[in-house]
Amino acid sequence: LTSSPTSPGLHVIHIAAEMAPVAKVGGLGDVVTGLSKSLQKRGHLVEIVLPKYDCMQYDQIRNLRVLDTVVESYFDGQLYKDKVWVGTVEGLPVYFIEPLHPDKFFWRGQFYGEHDDFKRFSFFSRAALELLLQAGKKPDIIHCHDWQTAFVAPLYWDLYAPKGLNSARICFTCHNFEYQGIAPASELASCGLDVDQLNRPDRMQDNSAHDRVNPIKGAVVFSNIVTTVSPTYAQEVRTAEGGRGLHSTLNFHSKKFAGILNGIDTDAWNPATDDFLKVQYSANDLQGKAENKAALRRMLRLSSADVGKPLVGSITRLVPQKGVHLIRHAIYRTLELGGQFVLLGSSPVPHIQREFEGIASQFQNHDDIRLILKYDESLSHSIYSASDMFIIPSIFEPCGLTQMIAMRYGSVPIARKTGGLHDSVFDVDDDTVPLRFRNGFTFLTPDEQGVNNALERAFNYYRNNPESWQQLVQSVMNLDFSWDSSASQYEELYSKAVARAKAAGHP
Ligand code: ADP
Repeated sequence: LTSSPTSPGLHVIHIAAEMAPVAKVGGLGDVVTGLSKSLQKRGHLVEIVLPKYDCMQYDQIRNLRVLDTVVESYFDGQLYKDKVWVGTVEGLPVYFIEPLHPDKFFWRGQFYGEHDDFKRFSFFSRAALELLLQAGKKPDIIHCHDWQTAFVAPLYWDLYAPKGLNSARICFTCHNFEYQGIAPASELASCGLDVDQLNRPDRMQDNSAHDRVNPIKGAVVFSNIVTTVSPTYAQEVRTAEGGRGLHSTLNFHSKKFAGILNGIDTDAWNPATDDFLKVQYSANDLQGKAENKAALRRMLRLSSADVGKPLVGSITRLVPQKGVHLIRHAIYRTLELGGQFVLLGSSPVPHIQREFEGIASQFQNHDDIRLILKYDESLSHSIYSASDMFIIPSIFEPCGLTQMIAMRYGSVPIARKTGGLHDSVFDVDDDTVPLRFRNGFTFLTPDEQGVNNALERAFNYYRNNPESWQQLVQSVMNLDFSWDSSASQYEELYSKAVARAKAAGHP
């Protein structure tokens, strides 16, 4: 193990449970990679620490090799050896920790959803800090994400700063407050944290159960910077309705709490270079988009009798957060309005999966509706490129990426005004928004009436003003959803925290 070379920029180390494309479940994986790539381009030294899962996409890791030195980390009163691997993912240096613990924490064939997730990730959080200490790293920022690595914040201040890993400020990003990792307080002792000290109302104690600890709350209390993934969601979680029990904690710590909208990977999502597409295209050459629409119709056996029929797309996890009942309603309403609808989605919730399987078979040979109930990266690119409109009726949405990807491919979003959708989709009829920012159709109330109103306005616009519609398509394709501006906001928060520490005389 060697310490990292000095760099003129900041030294940022992400400790996370996901990183796209090697270990991705959802948006968290995209953020770790997108933000890191953008910060690296700006001259910062960025490293990532991940668990070494058996189910990773190993073909996406370059130069994977095991280090000679073994790290020993504490758990349940003993020291366990961890093998440490290094490799390069998307040009970024990544450390992979393989615990030699008999429970084989990361040899489970899946990333999450195990009965002992609290143990697995509190172990990993401690092992990651142990690695940084033993490697002599002197990062400026340690950035942890979601409840799985929230333990890093209290572990750092209570155990690792006293041991000498004390150069860093801690940044914590919560990608979805729905998932808090709450567990019986006694479980915190396994990773060496002091249960009596931490199971207190002003520290890690869950706000509604006094014998339970809440890792997200712990990270909010113990981090120097706390962020979530859009400005509107940051406001929403500070209210009793939106905070999932943490609103009072977030309000108390509001000075260090900010919402920063995620970007998308504009290299991976680029219709001008996208190899998944039948025909590549750009805002100045929309003929290619029409050819992709024709190709998708052929592939899915949808009618091509009316070339001008608008095609509505939806690509989503089918979970209550995404407004599944409104997606279902939008399918039927689109049919009534004379459009076509393509849904690509799958559900971890058995009764929702069954319900949509029922709808899928109802429309199996239909001319205008197709439901494909699986995860399919390639098909997702085809649908973004082929669709004219893209519906996202979420009940809540911390950031949401599909509206941004849809726009990049010239599909106009129809979205509920919540969270990150509120920060990225602006209604074409909203006079309070400057014209150049208006890019879609929105509704506020999450009910059928709301969906109908936005969908009908979109259809009327499409049919009655084809030229304006084309201009709208071109203008949404030209919007900038790259990581550049978001990364510069993180950079500013990091730099301010580092400067504050220096001013206060910290190392
Ligand atoms: P969340 O992280 O809550 O699922 P986001 O909008 O942040 O929602 O990100 C969703 C990502 O997953 C997008 O890149 C979208 O294209 C992709 N996705 C969702 N469902 C599918 C699917 N069934 N097949 C392929 N890609 C999907």
